[in-house]
Amino acid sequence: MADADARQPFSADVSEMRTLFDLQHRKSRSHPPADLKLRRDRLDRLAAMVKQHGDRFADAISSDFGVRARIETELMELVPTLGAIRYARKNLPAWMKPEKRHVSVNFQPGKAWVRHEPLGVIGIISPWNYPLQLALSPLVDAFAAGNRAMLKPSELTPAFAELLKDVMAQHFDPEEAAVVTGGVDVGQAFSSLPFDHLLFTGSTAVGRLVYQAAAKNLTPVTLELGGKSPAIVCDDYSLEKAAKSIAFGKWLNAGQTCIAPDYVLVPEHKAEAMAQALLARVRESYPDLAHNPDYSGVISERHRKRLLDAVQVARDKGATVLSYEEEAAVEAGKVPPTVVLNAPEEAILASEEIFGPVLPVVPYRTLDDAIAHVNSRDRPLALYCFTDEKACEERVLGRTLSGGVTLNGTLLHIAQESLPFGGVGPSGIGAYHGQEGFKRFSHARAVHKVGFINVFEKLGPPWGKTARKVAQMMLNR
Ligand code: NAD
Repeated sequence: MADADARQPFSADVSEMRTLFDLQHRKSRSHPPADLKLRRDRLDRLAAMVKQHGDRFADAISSDFGVRARIETELMELVPTLGAIRYARKNLPAWMKPEKRHVSVNFQPGKAWVRHEPLGVIGIISPWNYPLQLALSPLVDAFAAGNRAMLKPSELTPAFAELLKDVMAQHFDPEEAAVVTGGVDVGQAFSSLPFDHLLFTGSTAVGRLVYQAAAKNLTPVTLELGGKSPAIVCDDYSLEKAAKSIAFGKWLNAGQTCIAPDYVLVPEHKAEAMAQALLARVRESYPDLAHNPDYSGVISERHRKRLLDAVQVARDKGATVLSYEEEAAVEAGKVPPTVVLNAPEEAILASEEIFGPVLPVVPYRTLDDAIAHVNSRDRPLALYCFTDEKACEERVLGRTLSGGVTLNGTLLHIAQESLPFGGVGPSGIGAYHGQEGFKRFSHARAVHKVGFINVFEKLGPPWGKTARKVAQMMLNR
């Protein structure tokens, strides 16, 4: 199990990292940009790598987590990565086509279009919670857009990171893509490299530091951050159905999912019943915890302590805590699924991103109160709303803002390859996946081709009567 918080960062040679960057940078400036054939070839090699080493990746991730359900690694990491590759591969010819743009009468008979050009070298910093998917799905988009890339996975999943480094080197030339491993010091040096774009996935606090480091080079960033993603259950909606969906989204990977519901807003007369329904549902999914290979461990001792302490603080302040098999789970390096009713506003559970298997249920009086509760906090990465009433759906969508939304379910907006994925405000800057990812890592280069007459140049200087007439005509239009 990864008690990497206590572990010394494993070595990475910063000068080696710089040499690698220089190589990719030089090649990106001296070689023609990757054409469709090369982009597809890189995507094919990436798919082959994921398929060939899928079992080893799952084993490495499981050993980093203590326990991670194999099926979760398959469904939440390998399948979406392969899906993203297939989607990009298929749509690349259309995405790469120059986009014809309108030319106003003043500039006729000229032409205008946009070419999506590769940026050059992309830096990708990824977290530990879905270590494969969050490293490789930005790489899919970087490759689709014709770039080279350097990856820096999290030090909290060392077995996975070393394996990724090793197999990437078998499938890619370092001038195309390579992995750099190491801890915070390596992350800092990595984010100081003058990439053509830097995509960071991780906490909002570290995101701020990465943004500052990138700003020194004027490197544009995509920041995929965290936050408290609410689930709002409207009064009309079946409590059982909502509890089932929320439990699914919350306790997968033991709540260590950036878009897991962080807390549930429920009409006050149903709050207790919802807390009980959530607990019943999660117990049905994971009847025992300690030896259950489907119930994931929490990544490190520091994170286990953080979560258990936060529950204790809420309990001490008068909240009702519902859980099961507490001792056995903790002994096995897990945190039990926990539902907390009436956690006071000042408790950590109410103010900080939970990122673990603890779920507060927050009662509300009116839907407007629930909306006001969401709006009084930072804009979240995801929002879930359960209702069959169009008016309630519209009210929640129209009066809140979040990175993305799933209605009457949880998590699934991230799985739609056709949708952009990203946060807003403190939950992130920019989005990727699918065509948005392709555009994120491309430069939209404006091209104007002058027609057989260049009217503007014909007018002067020296500026004469005709120029004045034309100017007047244009001003009066
Ligand atoms: P983290 O911010 O601690 O670390 C992320 C990465 O940044 C790691 O590779 C780490 O080595 C590196 N890093 C640490 N300090 C650095 C520094 N000063 N400079 C540069 N790099 C540095 O995040 P984490 O604990 O690995 O992940 C959990 C967080 O990530 C949660 O907040 C979660 O919501 C968020 N998250 C967001 C998404 C998303 O897509 N928006 C996905 C998964 C996780």
